[in-house]
Amino acid sequence: MIKKPSFLVSNTDYKKCPSPNRPEFAFIGRSNVGKSSLINMLTNHKNLAKISGKPGKTQLINHFDIDGRWYMVDLPGYGFAKVSKSLKSDWDKMIREYLTRRENLTVTFVLVDSRLDPQKIDVEFIYWCAENAIPVVLLFTKADKLSLSKTNANVKKFIGAMEEMFEEAPEYFITSAQTGQGKEEVIRFIEENVEE
Ligand code: GDP
Repeated sequence: MIKKPSFLVSNTDYKKCPSPNRPEFAFIGRSNVGKSSLINMLTNHKNLAKISGKPGKTQLINHFDIDGRWYMVDLPGYGFAKVSKSLKSDWDKMIREYLTRRENLTVTFVLVDSRLDPQKIDVEFIYWCAENAIPVVLLFTKADKLSLSKTNANVKKFIGAMEEMFEEAPEYFITSAQTGQGKEEVIRFIEENVEE
């Protein structure tokens, strides 16, 4: 259970992020995947992460302090069609550097819309993480939007695509910011990975 989350700082350079003296968990996914909603749901906060009016606008590495024990990081979404080429390459450099060099990064949660068939951009991003030995856990979002069987079928399809690429598909959780589905499981997973 998260008791006291608070916003710390936004950066464009991983070198300026808070001292890497605690475990860190990052959240990333396609714009509009439901990242802000999920962060708010996990932290019991109405508006910790801003629900995006303009997808792709925030191009910052946002650090949150969680109970003085670990850092939660809200990373800018990818795959927003209207982002210019130069903005995209800035995003690429910032995110790639952060993900490959941030020494206390414990797990990167990659959010995937549970309503959709496997999207090339998600699969490519996860593949890049694997190539760079970045530990990934998948969070399927918006599970309330489809029937249980349809959600499960989509998740199975996505995990199947992962299994074709990797020996072992990443661990995953099925979530909904609307119903709170997956909240306990995700928090428990994080807690287990935060060393006392
Ligand atoms: P972000 O761009 O990834 O931060 O996505 P947002 O959190 O801003 O969500 C994008 C849209 O999806 C908003 O209209 C949200 O209300 C909606 N949304 C996000 N999560 C859920 C969910 O779990 N269930 C439902 N039904 N809608 C969601």
